[in-house]
Amino acid sequence: MKNRRVVLASRPAGWVSEANFRIEEAPVPAPADGQVLVKNLWLSLDPYMRGRMNEGRSYAAKQELGEVMIGGTVGEVVESKHPKFAKGDQVLGMLGWQQYGLSDGKGLNKVDASRVPPSAYLGVLGMPGVTAWVGLLDICQPKPGETVVVSAASGAVGSVVGQIAKIKGCRAVGIAGGRQKCDYVVKELGFDACVDYKAGMLNDDLKVAVPDGIDCYFENVGGEILDAALRRMNAFSRIAVCGLISQYNATEPYGVKTVQSILTNRIKVQGFIVSDRMELWPKALADLAGWVAAGRIKYRETVTEGLETAPRAFIGLLKGENFGKQLVRLG
Ligand code: NDP
Repeated sequence: MKNRRVVLASRPAGWVSEANFRIEEAPVPAPADGQVLVKNLWLSLDPYMRGRMNEGRSYAAKQELGEVMIGGTVGEVVESKHPKFAKGDQVLGMLGWQQYGLSDGKGLNKVDASRVPPSAYLGVLGMPGVTAWVGLLDICQPKPGETVVVSAASGAVGSVVGQIAKIKGCRAVGIAGGRQKCDYVVKELGFDACVDYKAGMLNDDLKVAVPDGIDCYFENVGGEILDAALRRMNAFSRIAVCGLISQYNATEPYGVKTVQSILTNRIKVQGFIVSDRMELWPKALADLAGWVAAGRIKYRETVTEGLETAPRAFIGLLKGENFGKQLVRLG
């Protein structure tokens, strides 16, 4: 049996391209004592992977050339020499862009796929969902009646941010690219308003959408959208800097023009990485599971079929071609 896998072939300068990846075949590895062999069924594609492709060090180590691309996976144990796992277990892990992965059990967790589809553990009931929970509830700490704005609002993280804001009694306003995404955010997810930043009237439209200003801004994007949000922030408001996706492929960084708003409005700005807050994950996941089961949080996925589609789908994610959580079905 062969294991197909995607490795990092070269580092992008600016926009990532399919040529930065290489698809390889290798024998399926055999588990040694203490290891399990997992057949990956779902691969998560996430914006952080772009940062790992760079040469320079960020908050995490870079992805090495020639190595299997990093990635979250859900799969099924096909052979186990580990006391805690048995053949047939469904498991969540970081086994990367490949059809089969070996694990020593560290960071591998069994999931219950009987009540929610297994792919949910890579989205709303996984890292992106917890990111939304941590950034909104631990960092922004919105109070009922306050206005919460989130960028990339139809995406894996942003969609959950706005829905939690509604659960907490806030006014939720999204910023997203295109009418279709904005309609989904308001009509299906229940946000109070959504600004289509591609319509060309970002500042004016945001002003209308937040008549009482912004108390919490959950930043996923950066660039002009950050400037627009800074113009509308209230005194003593909070910004959780979760991501800056508009900058990940930029060769010239965008210069933010409204930094003065942080001073005049005494804004608290905090960046965060969800993996730094592991102590919050159990509480966040319990809340999210309850809200999903109760139908109070909805989610959407964009799925491509087969490992070969991963590079193209990843580039699409960075360009906003995804609509909801971007996944690759491997199994
Ligand atoms: P999404 O599902 O939101 O997909 C990315 C979205 O970003 C696209 O659909 C697109 O939406 C938007 N986007 C892309 N380019 C631009 C641009 N130039 N300007 C404005 N919007 C753009 O991805 P995730 O939910 O997985 O991630 C969202 C953000 O959260 C990312 O910045 C990511 O890095 C960050 N993140 C941070 C974590 C942390 O621990 N700090 C953990 C997980 C994610 P649209 O069509 O609306 O433009």
